[in-house]
Amino acid sequence: MEHIRYRGRFAPSPTGPLHFGSLVTALASWLEARTSSGDWLVRIEDLDPLREPPEATGQILRSLESHGLLPDEPVRFQSRRHGAYQAAIEQLLLQNKAYRCGCSRKQLQANQGHHPFHCRTSPQPPGSSPHAIRFALEDENSHWPDLLLGPQQQQVRAELDDPVILRKEGFYAYQLAVVVDDIDQGITHVVRGSDLLDMTAQQQQIFRALGACAPHWLHIPVITNEQGQKLSKQTHAPALDDTRPSGNLVQALTALGQTPPPGLEESRVDEVLEWGRTHWQRHAIPLTSRQARGITPGTQFPSDR
Ligand code: GLU
Repeated sequence: MEHIRYRGRFAPSPTGPLHFGSLVTALASWLEARTSSGDWLVRIEDLDPLREPPEATGQILRSLESHGLLPDEPVRFQSRRHGAYQAAIEQLLLQNKAYRCGCSRKQLQANQGHHPFHCRTSPQPPGSSPHAIRFALEDENSHWPDLLLGPQQQQVRAELDDPVILRKEGFYAYQLAVVVDDIDQGITHVVRGSDLLDMTAQQQQIFRALGACAPHWLHIPVITNEQGQKLSKQTHAPALDDTRPSGNLVQALTALGQTPPPGLEESRVDEVLEWGRTHWQRHAIPLTSRQARGITPGTQFPSDR
């Protein structure tokens, strides 16, 4: 069988500077790629200018660089890929795997946030007043292996929750763009936070509809704060302190269940990364956020192992 080279990626949405949780994801995907002699790419998922402060992309890229996480190819920006997303939408519309949906927020709310049942069978005609485009999911009981979490199973309830792939406001949606670019960039392995685990079955269907094989998946626990909330802009996660990259990387390794030797944070960034690469043990990654919890920059680690 032909050997397919490993290609992984870190794909942040630039809603703010890198925080500790995103460093953990970036590092896990970097380590998986490096220990598989693969390529590691960075893709900025800048699809929604209304949620993205203009300085965030630069901050993220500088932060990655100061932590020694350098991509093997030029950074890709989704804001420059609209043509590819439009072409994918047209293909899906032609194949009747996507449809125009004019439902208002009110109609969706009246239906507990779900999409009303009738819309797929009576879609909006082209050119009609503002509408979204949704992907037509198939009803399916989906099974796939997660490289960390083991066998996964998800019941896809078609129609009610068909994902939006082009938003009413004219923005291409994450669900579509992530798949189009993973296909185009030849991504073989996706390492990301387990907050996205529930999206996997839908994304597998979009891969199939676009005629591609889905990649392998590995979902790592999301890093939470003391209140158990995911570190994010919404929960006011502090930006990484780029002046102490070695310390941050050592903390990220610990959050990933690795056991760096005492004092490693005094080493240079490349030495910390090299330690991580040679000692990487995927099976030591904690399975739940609770186990990986409580680790924010500048605090002591709980000794949970
Ligand atoms: N851009 C997404 C995020 O920042 C991640 C995409 C993915 O890894 O699938 O949450």
